Amino acid sequence: METTLTQEKNNKLKVHIETWGCQMNVADSEHMLSLMKLQDYQWVPNADDADLLILNTCHIREKAKHKVMSRLGLLRQRKESDPNFVVAVAGCVAQAEGKKLLEQSSAIDILLGPGKIKELPRLVNEFKESRKKQVATGFAKKTDAAEETEEEFPITPVPLTGKNEVTRYINIQQGCDNFCTFCVVPFTRGREISEKPANVLKQVEQFIATGAKEVTLLGQNVNSYGHDLVEKGLLTASADGPFVDLLKEVAKIESLSRLRFTTSNPHDFTKPLADLFRTEPKLGKHIHLPVQSGSDRILAAMKRKVTQEEYLERLRWLRDAVPDISISTDLIVGFPGETEEDFEQTYELVKKAEYSFVFSFAYSPRKGTAAARFVDQVPLSVKTERLARLNALQDAATLAQNRAEIGKERIALFHYKSKKEENVYYGKTEHFRLVRVPSGRDLLGMELPVLIEDANKTALTAKLL
Ligand code: SF4
Repeated sequence: METTLTQEKNNKLKVHIETWGCQMNVADSEHMLSLMKLQDYQWVPNADDADLLILNTCHIREKAKHKVMSRLGLLRQRKESDPNFVVAVAGCVAQAEGKKLLEQSSAIDILLGPGKIKELPRLVNEFKESRKKQVATGFAKKTDAAEETEEEFPITPVPLTGKNEVTRYINIQQGCDNFCTFCVVPFTRGREISEKPANVLKQVEQFIATGAKEVTLLGQNVNSYGHDLVEKGLLTASADGPFVDLLKEVAKIESLSRLRFTTSNPHDFTKPLADLFRTEPKLGKHIHLPVQSGSDRILAAMKRKVTQEEYLERLRWLRDAVPDISISTDLIVGFPGETEEDFEQTYELVKKAEYSFVFSFAYSPRKGTAAARFVDQVPLSVKTERLARLNALQDAATLAQNRAEIGKERIALFHYKSKKEENVYYGKTEHFRLVRVPSGRDLLGMELPVLIEDANKTALTAKLL
């Protein structure tokens, strides 16, 4: 009897991936999906229908780990009733906790660190053959990374269901060498290892071939991209540095409309990079440049390797290049030892910097980081009160900046259609502001001039011009 596509489809093993955390995890999940599709798995939108469930985890805050543990708790029952159901825990919690996690939850069959993604198919097959728990954590050594990356992208990473294809993420660098005292990333993602430019360009072309108009190049410390390749004689860079060289190469790809990158570190942010915003229109008019604190004393305790004045100098470079550039940042309040005076310096910096928006967090100690061992931890009530003051200040500034857009013409790249409102599309302006546009036409993936008619703290409303 002829097996129909659906029957064939129904016979295929099914995979579902739940992703927590940053865009780097989204890109890793897409990569894992593409690897399992090579093993003839098919994506299912619902975890209950999956034969293989991958939890791609984040370790940036304690709360994130608890979420994973409670999710595993919910899976134990299914694990006991369905022996063919396989659970893999990937990402930063897998790397940070390692084998201990297997003792904490019997629901886990496979443990996979961010540095070992390529081993997923082998681990799944070995678990199925041996029924023994499989663990692959640790990172590629700086010495051997470059050779390994050749066959990095066998097929185009597949967007996870529900994620649109207009904007895509590419991990161009693993890890970070900075060791800021509050951060777990160097422990969960290892040292900086850059992807070869040829692979990045190939990836961009693959994404454009599947409809992408915008790509975001990702790294924990993306500005230091390529230095490891130069050190090993695997890449020759111009005086502007390997990251600026890469951006120029990617921007040459004609059918790419917008090119973005994150996350920048002010210490590694250079003048040639700021100047590129003047000459390369595809970079748009927005940059995310985390500062974390406005106090030089706290910046030193965080080992951020910049002072407030050096940070403000980077903002001046950017505003010289693009006078109306919108700038966003990350801020931590309540870092150990932070006095009211230190906080005031952060508060004043936010006023001076005129951010378009700010991601602000109360400091949470992360096991294994230097700051978690600092004695003068700030009481939660003080952190909460300072965070509220800072958010009130920035919310008012964001609203004022958004309302100042009313009456202006902007160019919007449309990312998705609203699920809640009929014939309404959402996109981002060149300043990376969210814009909502009612339209009977399908605007997905289009880059069009719009007139801003209204604004609130989170989004602008516009009409097509
Ligand atoms: S630069 Fe960023 S990723 Fe690297 S240690 Fe500092 S905060 Fe963490």
